Amino acid sequence: MVRTQARRATRSYRLFTVEVRRTVRVSPSFLRVTFTGPDLDLFADNGFDQRIKVVFPLPGQDIDHLEWGADWHERWRALPERERNLMRTYTVRAVRRELCEVDVEFVLHGDGGPASRWAAAARPGDRVGVVGPDARYPGQHKGIGFTPPGGTRTILLAGDETATPAAVSILERLSRHARGEAVLEVPHAGDARPATAPAGMRVTWLARRGAAHGSLLIPTVRDAVARLAVPYLRRRTPLPEPDVDADPLWEVPDPAAAVPTGMFAWLAGESGAIAALRRHLVGQVGLDRASVAFMGYWRLGGAGRAG
Ligand SMILES: Cc1cc2nc3c(=O)[nH]c(=O)nc-3n(C[C@H](O)[C@H](O)[C@H](O)COP(=O)(O)OP(=O)(O)OC[C@H]3O[C@@H](n4cnc5c(N)ncnc54)[C@H](O)[C@@H]3O)c2cc1C
Repeated sequence: MVRTQARRATRSYRLFTVEVRRTVRVSPSFLRVTFTGPDLDLFADNGFDQRIKVVFPLPGQDIDHLEWGADWHERWRALPERERNLMRTYTVRAVRRELCEVDVEFVLHGDGGPASRWAAAARPGDRVGVVGPDARYPGQHKGIGFTPPGGTRTILLAGDETATPAAVSILERLSRHARGEAVLEVPHAGDARPATAPAGMRVTWLARRGAAHGSLLIPTVRDAVARLAVPYLRRRTPLPEPDVDADPLWEVPDPAAAVPTGMFAWLAGESGAIAALRRHLVGQVGLDRASVAFMGYWRLGGAGRAG
């Protein structure tokens, strides 16, 4: 028993059982949900694009059987499929450990996804599980894709609405000397928000207004890269075309192996749009692959990963 507890305490991530404290509709497409729970004072506040899993109750059930502690994943996988709670990946928007509060911003996309549906109906007291970083873990938590190597002088952030909570959190934590551009495509003009950012970061909001996903993001990022990247070009790398229907698009440079090139690009959002940007940046422009994180956050027409 003592050994089990000691081992649990050393895991990077653990399952927190939480309930909704309040919800705020921050803009037409975003709902901020503030979670609270008795042990959220142990939730690590890492900032940047720290990702988590939100675990939803099965229909007609609460989440009491989710007391899985640090072994949550093994236990979840061992469940018969019909008893496996659905989970989706989200970004930590804010942590207030002293108040035992964590904020997550859900895009209300209205496409029948269980996470979006849950958020649209969320009320104070509703309970879910959150798999997140345990502050007691002595090492570096996983789950952060924004890892510019030392010596980075220029930053490019680009993404759609699902990447907006992460991009805004990254902007907030950048050094005040950071320089570069952030380009964010959102459904409506009202989804653009004032972002706290260093003076040297130019932030551009693009309102899609019903146009195709990525149709504004892709050309605007191309223009930004043309302005920013020229000194950092290495070689054009022919890339095998990823099959976004089969594989989640996910290529994050290992910070330990990263080659400092002076520029770091962070791209996240709908997989097809991110694949197109990857093709352009690495395959055509010649940005070094080791300085670019590409992350397919979701896939048009495909359900998110269950766990
Ligand atoms: C690391 C990471 C961090 C993320 N952070 C956030 C975050 O902070 N906030 C956030 O809202 N999302 C975030 N996402 C994206 C989120 O996980 C997906 O949008 C997820 O698919 C939503 O689940 P769902 O149950 O609502 O829909 P699903 O069951 O996954 O999908 C149902 C249908 O909805 C469509 N769909 C899914 N998402 C969208 C969307 N945004 N717009 C339009 N159609 C959609 C799918 O194509 C599918 O047709 C993140 C993803 C990753 C990988």
